[in-house]
Amino acid sequence: MRIGVIGAGVVGALIARELCRYEVEVHLFERAADVAFGVTKANSGVIHGCFHEGPGTARARFCVEGSAMYATLAAELDFPFRRIGAHVIAFTPVDEQTLAQLRDQGEEIGVPGLTIISGEELRAREPHVSPQARAALWSPTVGIVEPWDVAIAAVENARDNGLLLHLNTEVTAIDVIGGRVRAVTTTRGTFPVDAVVNAAGLYADQVARMVGLSAPVLHPRRGEYLLLDKPAGKMANSVLFPAPTDNSKGILVLPTIDGNLLLGPTADDLPAFTPDAVATTTSGLTAAIAGAQRLVPKIDPRLTIKTFAGVRPEPITGEFTVGPTNVRGFYQAAGMRSPGLTAAPAIARYLAQELTHAINVPKKAAFNPKRTAIPRFSALSPHDRSTLIDADPRYGRIVCRCNEVTEGEIVAAIRRGARTLDGIKFRTRAGFGRCQGGFCTARIVAILARELGVPPEEVRVRGNDDRIIVGRVRP
Ligand SMILES: Cc1cc2nc3c(=O)[nH]c(=O)nc-3n(C[C@H](O)[C@H](O)[C@H](O)COP(=O)(O)OP(=O)(O)OC[C@H]3O[C@@H](n4cnc5c(N)ncnc54)[C@H](O)[C@@H]3O)c2cc1C
Repeated sequence: MRIGVIGAGVVGALIARELCRYEVEVHLFERAADVAFGVTKANSGVIHGCFHEGPGTARARFCVEGSAMYATLAAELDFPFRRIGAHVIAFTPVDEQTLAQLRDQGEEIGVPGLTIISGEELRAREPHVSPQARAALWSPTVGIVEPWDVAIAAVENARDNGLLLHLNTEVTAIDVIGGRVRAVTTTRGTFPVDAVVNAAGLYADQVARMVGLSAPVLHPRRGEYLLLDKPAGKMANSVLFPAPTDNSKGILVLPTIDGNLLLGPTADDLPAFTPDAVATTTSGLTAAIAGAQRLVPKIDPRLTIKTFAGVRPEPITGEFTVGPTNVRGFYQAAGMRSPGLTAAPAIARYLAQELTHAINVPKKAAFNPKRTAIPRFSALSPHDRSTLIDADPRYGRIVCRCNEVTEGEIVAAIRRGARTLDGIKFRTRAGFGRCQGGFCTARIVAILARELGVPPEEVRVRGNDDRIIVGRVRP
């Protein structure tokens, strides 16, 4: 029995891992050069409380279930996850009514611990919040992750459990014969399969059309962000939301796992067929700063070390499309707008159960749910650092000064599958710090070239034609 999963974002990665619990051959197809290079690499990284989601929706169901699964998932897959809670801040009497509605809605769908606190109590917890804040909704279950960590860890664990990962492999057609899925055709050949899961993110509508389905209909909605340097990280202890608008949860202020401060996202509806429109704009960044300063007036945008944008695969129905379809063997995990990251573990569990029940396969006795992360030198005690260096002297050579990433970590990332600068960055945080790779890029290129046995000119940022080095300046 063979199952193909299309798309190695967080949704496809977790689905592939769940399927590896069963006696099936699982193939994960990804057109990019690495895991998590799509929507998963550019979002807020919030594991939501889910009180934003309407009762009776698939979003609410999978969000609540997924959020509750994250602590176990993080422990099994060894990625950082911090439940820091969130405050939704009210500035007007109308906002205060919205807080009460969000609390009631959250309680109806099973969100634990929601309480409304006064402006004074909010400022005691969050001293930098605006003096204009009148009240806040506190949601203690909200957490933060680095979203690519989740996908990378899930794929590593799935590979240990038999997953066949096909990177740089775009699915171009799905063969349906006699009303059921028989094979996927890719840029690297045709693979016979008994079932397919569409987890193609912004391209899920295109993949659905390959089997003749017209849903979901997606449109791209861009969100722009600013990432501020670590001194700004102390401006927020929790995730700070404004009262939501009709088309978004609003512009947030939140600390990141690494101790930086993230501002954003905006919500701009883009023309159809522009899923790759990830350029930032002056107007978008200005709006992100204004929105963030409304919550925390002293935020200093001069501490910005990076700006970026992500594009949401926004379904016109507003709803996730998850489950079997009327094409036998074709399953959807599509329309993965926010809170898709939060919902992903629950969607993965549900789909794996549906699929394996339909084809009646047993669980694998030998499935190992545990994965161990690459040692993080910067987080180790002096004693553990010296033990690591004694075992492998490359852990004694710092390559990224900002985040204190060693050559040992970079080599480990390459051994685990990193082939590009972004692949190294997402696995180790090298190049993610204040200088944004100004110091370490040349050194990482040299290590990649040495370890992969290729000339430095062949090293790419994230694949395709984005070379760093185009040739020699002197013969
Ligand atoms: C601005 C923004 C903020 C967000 N904030 C949050 C948040 O705080 N919390 C939260 O829970 N959610 C959030 N989300 C939503 C969350 O990021 C997404 O739901 C989630 O990342 C979607 O993951 P995915 O795996 O479905 O898509 P992707 O990560 O895009 O993965 C799909 C993959 O499929 C591949 N692919 C596409 N077509 C093909 C093909 N034909 N063949 C092979 N491969 C293919 C793509 O290359 C891609 O890698 C946010 C989203 C955005 C954009």
